Amino acid sequence: MQRDGINKSIWQEVTVPGLSAPRDQEHVEIIVVGGGITGLTAALKLQEAGRRCVIMEANTIGFGTTSGTSAHINTVLDTPYTDIIEQHGLEAARTVVASTRKAISIINKNKDQYEIDCDFTRCSGFMYAENEEEKKELKEIKEALEQVGIPCSEVDEIPVPASFMYAIEFEEQARFHPTKYLAGLAKAYISLGGQIRERTVVQHVKEENDMLVAKTAEGDVFSADFVLYATHTPPGIQLMNFRLAPYRSYIQVWELMRQIDWPEALVYDMQEPFHYFRTVEQGGKSYLLIGGQDHKTAHHDNEKKNFRELEAYVRSLYVVNKKIYEWSSQYYESQDSLPFIGYYPGKKHRRELLSSGYGGNGMIFGTLGGSMMADLVLHGKTDFQDIYSPSRIGPLSAIRNLLVENYDVAKHFVKDRFFLEEIEELAELGRGEGKILNYKGKRIGLFKGEQGELFAIDPVCRHAACIVKWNNTERSWDCPCHGARYAPDGSLLNGPSVAPLKIWQLEKKK
Ligand SMILES: Cc1cc2nc3c(=O)[nH]c(=O)nc-3n(C[C@H](O)[C@H](O)[C@H](O)COP(=O)(O)OP(=O)(O)OC[C@H]3O[C@@H](n4cnc5c(N)ncnc54)[C@H](O)[C@@H]3O)c2cc1C
Repeated sequence: MQRDGINKSIWQEVTVPGLSAPRDQEHVEIIVVGGGITGLTAALKLQEAGRRCVIMEANTIGFGTTSGTSAHINTVLDTPYTDIIEQHGLEAARTVVASTRKAISIINKNKDQYEIDCDFTRCSGFMYAENEEEKKELKEIKEALEQVGIPCSEVDEIPVPASFMYAIEFEEQARFHPTKYLAGLAKAYISLGGQIRERTVVQHVKEENDMLVAKTAEGDVFSADFVLYATHTPPGIQLMNFRLAPYRSYIQVWELMRQIDWPEALVYDMQEPFHYFRTVEQGGKSYLLIGGQDHKTAHHDNEKKNFRELEAYVRSLYVVNKKIYEWSSQYYESQDSLPFIGYYPGKKHRRELLSSGYGGNGMIFGTLGGSMMADLVLHGKTDFQDIYSPSRIGPLSAIRNLLVENYDVAKHFVKDRFFLEEIEELAELGRGEGKILNYKGKRIGLFKGEQGELFAIDPVCRHAACIVKWNNTERSWDCPCHGARYAPDGSLLNGPSVAPLKIWQLEKKK
């Protein structure tokens, strides 16, 4: 299967069924935009209830972050419950825990009902502190876990060979193989009559005569009763983009020398940014999966360096045999650390729904979001509707975060537009490299392919006109503002943009 980056992830070894929907179709009862874990969960639940869905996927099923994840299944989220309690209060934090438990039960139910062999394994989680400051923070996290009702305890041993001052173990976590699960959902959905239309970018949706009209980049037009955005970040320019910030995280999979070293549990250190560990199975063998080095998208000078640093970190802990995979992928943080799931804000009708802003917990929140959107279509209400409402104002601290994030966006508009780099560095560009340069007074994004062929793009993002940056490890043009991404030739990889970059024609002098 394909993914939105050049580096291959371990999850791409799976074939996910895609099914072409009839081309002459004009009315679709429910359009689910996006074929990741969120879209498939929603579409399957709707199809089970006898509703007729078409999944419209810009690329192929699993193309987005679902095939670039690490697939920890958590009730203990990346945002510590200390922060969630501080921002939203204890009752809300307990509701969040209840929602994560529900998400795990949905995964479990789907796996059992459709006999999906997806390596689902229940396990515990560990967090460890390496200095006094981290120890203090971790003690507070443990207290918060107790307050929200997640069983946890102090431990003297952890399942990674790191020295530590203090550590805790918490129960009720799990891990699985995300694309085997996705393939199982797709198979079940298709067997119930569900349709999938791949390579279909939904570009524009508007209300017309009490109906939604969706236009695709290919020029097809559909009417629909409901449109569900399962696109990781909602497409187009709208308020939601300003409430979500894109981040990139890096993963490696290693063959270790000693069998006893695989961590059966999910493990996290307390560094900033933190590292995450799990075991992954492939072909009857176990491997170490480790991730971290997170940073805001396109806010790093040299993405390749993150892999080198991750490798150095692994080698400082383990005796390794060889690295078998490395890749990076993108996620979106919401302004107040909780996802946005529900009716699209600012619309008079209740026909458009979205689910986004999962941070590093999209296996849980994507499952929950898919299921909640389906409930809203089917019953007009769902559990956890208020706490995750996209229309919520949220705590005051979140508004501060919003201002900081959007100051950053403003900075990219201004700085990148008027502060031009030097000049013609054409000759210096190596094969497989991309660069923004100032060429004859015009700003050009240039990529040199492996055969020396040149692709020139206009680096102005088609979403909100920020300037894209070259990502030297996934070989993509990434937008620092809202996370839109483009392939070296300018074609669209990730929303919220719905159009490719403009292309510059390069001509040889006669
Ligand atoms: C490195 C990394 C590690 C992670 N680890 C974990 C983890 O351990 N546990 C966890 O719970 N979460 C983790 N996450 C987060 C989790 O992987 C994601 O939140 C989740 O996969 C998102 O799923 P999704 O279905 O919403 O989006 P995606 O899988 O990104 O799917 C969205 C789909 O929508 C399509 N699309 C977008 N726009 C359009 C359009 N206009 N028209 C048609 N189609 C469109 C895209 O092509 C894409 O296929 C991790 C994330 C990263 C980056």
